[in-house]
Amino acid sequence: MTVAIYPGSFDPITHGHIDIIKRASSIFDELIVGVYDRPEKRLLFSTEERVRMAQQAIAHLKNVRVQSYSSLTVDFAKKVGAQVMVRGLRMSSDFEREFEMAMMNKKLAPDLELVCCMASLQYQFLSSSLLKEVAQLGGCLEEMVPDHVAAALRGRFAPEACPPSRKGVSR
Ligand code: ADP
Repeated sequence: MTVAIYPGSFDPITHGHIDIIKRASSIFDELIVGVYDRPEKRLLFSTEERVRMAQQAIAHLKNVRVQSYSSLTVDFAKKVGAQVMVRGLRMSSDFEREFEMAMMNKKLAPDLELVCCMASLQYQFLSSSLLKEVAQLGGCLEEMVPDHVAAALRGRFAPEACPPSRKGVSR
């Protein structure tokens, strides 16, 4: 049985992440989405909120679960019995960072294998940080995140952003 982890900040989870999760869950027996407790980034959502949004987004996938962690990622992998770490790669800037991290992780945990999935074309430019900027400026989020995540973002920033269809409303 092959267990994989998919670690990240997921602040918040996007359709880009969900696409990687779906694809990885069809390769491995079990996939654990690891929500890192304290990344070197300014977070918008608490760990509990990030976990809850991810859980709701992947509820239909039977072999996937979400768990937060605050240790080194390689230690988290060991703790949950994972042999593989999954990461998503968008453009070349992701590659450099992932490569550096992969080298360090290989040194720390030589037995943990890394599998990188290329982002699907429609999600190449989708990142949680850009998404937060769009949300802050009242942009429409519906094609980038699931409805519950869009609602959470609107709740934080702009309750009036992207209102429901105004069909039949005269201006
Ligand atoms: P981290 O802080 O670890 O980069 P993120 O939540 O930003 O956490 O990303 C987690 C993983 O998902 C990373 O491997 C990242 O490259 C990947 N990822 C982020 N957005 C996308 C996307 N749109 N398509 C595919 N992979 C993505």
